[in-house]
Amino acid sequence: MSDFVKSFLAEVIAKNPAQPEFHQAVEEVVGSLSLVLDRHIEYRAAKILERMVEPERVIMFRIPWVDDQGDVQVNRGFRIEMNSAIGPYKGGLRFHASVNLGILKFLAFEQVLKNSLTSMSMGGGKGGSDFSPRGKSDNEVMRFCQSFMSELYRHIGPNTDIPAGDIGVGGREIGFLFGQYKRLKNEFTGVLTGKGLNWGGSLIRPEATGYGAVYFAAEMLSTRNETLDNKTCLVSGSGNVAQYTIEKILDLGGKAVTVSDSGGYIYDEEGIDRHKLEYIKELKNVRRGRIHEYADEYKSATYTAVDSSAGFNPLWDHEAQCAFPSATQNEINEKDAQNLLNNGVHLVSEGANMPTTIEGINLFLDNKILYGPGKAANAGGVAVSGLEMAQNSMRTSWSKEKVDKQLQEIMKNIHHTCIVTAERFGTPGNYVNGANIGGFLKVADAMMDQGLV
Ligand code: NDP
Repeated sequence: MSDFVKSFLAEVIAKNPAQPEFHQAVEEVVGSLSLVLDRHIEYRAAKILERMVEPERVIMFRIPWVDDQGDVQVNRGFRIEMNSAIGPYKGGLRFHASVNLGILKFLAFEQVLKNSLTSMSMGGGKGGSDFSPRGKSDNEVMRFCQSFMSELYRHIGPNTDIPAGDIGVGGREIGFLFGQYKRLKNEFTGVLTGKGLNWGGSLIRPEATGYGAVYFAAEMLSTRNETLDNKTCLVSGSGNVAQYTIEKILDLGGKAVTVSDSGGYIYDEEGIDRHKLEYIKELKNVRRGRIHEYADEYKSATYTAVDSSAGFNPLWDHEAQCAFPSATQNEINEKDAQNLLNNGVHLVSEGANMPTTIEGINLFLDNKILYGPGKAANAGGVAVSGLEMAQNSMRTSWSKEKVDKQLQEIMKNIHHTCIVTAERFGTPGNYVNGANIGGFLKVADAMMDQGLV
């Protein structure tokens, strides 16, 4: 680690106490950027990096709402407007009990680079609340969303900041949020993405993150003349990203054998076929049940409860060739990474954001496996959100085939950017450097052009 990187990180930690996920995201990126900053002293002089880790604006607010028992509940809401150098702020909303300022700042920081990699005109932002929709009735979720939007609406807009979904925010929540925005502003605009198909949503948006992570995996495999055909894949999570990851793995001839939620995971040796995938979608999206129910339904599967204090997750300790972490941050630590390598995994494509710890990433890089970091591999979701914005502006809607084709092209281009950039900076095959530097350069140049703002 260079002296510059060390002192830079020390300053970030001192200035942003108790935000370990944010420190981690910055550390991972700055490790790559020292290669750029050595060549471009003008970025250092203009303090581009110092400005990029400081959000342009942070909005934090109270969300009071009434539960079904008539009791008052109070949650905290956030929107981090991180960087608007290359377009309006764009990034999801997360509703989960663990949400805090540091987690949203890590996500917003990653989002800036990710959005830049898509080559679309989108800045970076992220938001959410420590509200958990799990176990709440539809009416409670609606009342919460209406209260959340009653403050957020004054800070967002189709040319200012366009939120979308993330953990805990799917089609149901986007619907309630959009309804309240429209009511307050008396405007029907594309202010949110991930909307329903009959009120401005785009085909393929629900599928986009998972499909994109698998397209990215296929691109990585093609550099070694391999395909996904007949490959056994470990998938974590069972939400939006996991479901469509499994769907695309099936399309490309692979076999997914695991799926999880925060309680534990199932291992299905026979593979999760289309019928079983439909069961998971119904279980999670309609009945809102727990993944252990899968093992009651299908005798080929075993359920293992996961003990978060065990220091490793047994999901990553099965024989496979590919892994698609699709649940949450830091779900693969050093021990999990070693287990993956021991079990024959030579491709990791991250559907989730920052699912691997820095120690885990270093193991993957040292072993030269195909490791696609989240900001590249899961950029398909925000890319199709960008396509949804374009359709809304033109007041049109494109066919499934057209959107899917564009998604595939975008993932191909991101892969190409990673490969070419990693090579240019002397680290061929290192997708971490490729993604971090590739995303950074466009934003940094725009910031230079726009002066000290
Ligand atoms: P969902 O809410 O649809 O699903 C999340 C899944 O991950 C659930 O199975 C959930 O289990 C599990 N999970 C969440 N938190 C934890 C935790 N702390 N420990 C263990 N499991 C957990 O979210 P998405 O599928 O949309 O998001 C998954 C990941 O993908 C996130 O990292 C998100 O940031 C990232 N991502 C999502 C995009 C999108 O378009 N939706 C775009 C790019 C990245 P449980 O139900 O028990 O909580």
